[in-house]
Amino acid sequence: MVKDELKVKRIKNGTVIDHIKANRALNILSMLNLPDDETPIMVAINVESSHMGKKDIIKIEGRELSQEEVDKLVLLAPQATLNIIRDYENIRKSPVELKDELVGVVKCSNPNCITNSNEPIENRFYVQNKEPVKLRCYYCERTMDYEDIESQF
Ligand SMILES: [Zn+2]
Repeated sequence: MVKDELKVKRIKNGTVIDHIKANRALNILSMLNLPDDETPIMVAINVESSHMGKKDIIKIEGRELSQEEVDKLVLLAPQATLNIIRDYENIRKSPVELKDELVGVVKCSNPNCITNSNEPIENRFYVQNKEPVKLRCYYCERTMDYEDIESQF
């Protein structure tokens, strides 16, 4: 582990999300429906980072993220690193990566979009820009930026 990751205690099993853009940790927790009544969580906000100036870190004990949560995480924190910890070992460390197309991850902000009707059509977006994120609806062409996406979680 690098020195600046040791500011909060190590966890035995769970998830460490590192290199989150500063001040976005609370949005990410809200997206993950955390905190809840039982999950221990450690959050560092606006800590020094050698690469990024300032960053946030989240450590979640006893929980790993689902693919759907990872897909949302990448929208909120495009530079983040996802670490899966099992028995104090970092078994997987990967940068999260935004795909060129997103299906079923976020809702279109256009109330008249066909994906918001009663039709059984799944949300689908082209990723027009990754950072800052900009999505375009496949069906109605509405574009969505970070604020539009974040407000859904
Ligand atoms: Zn749409």
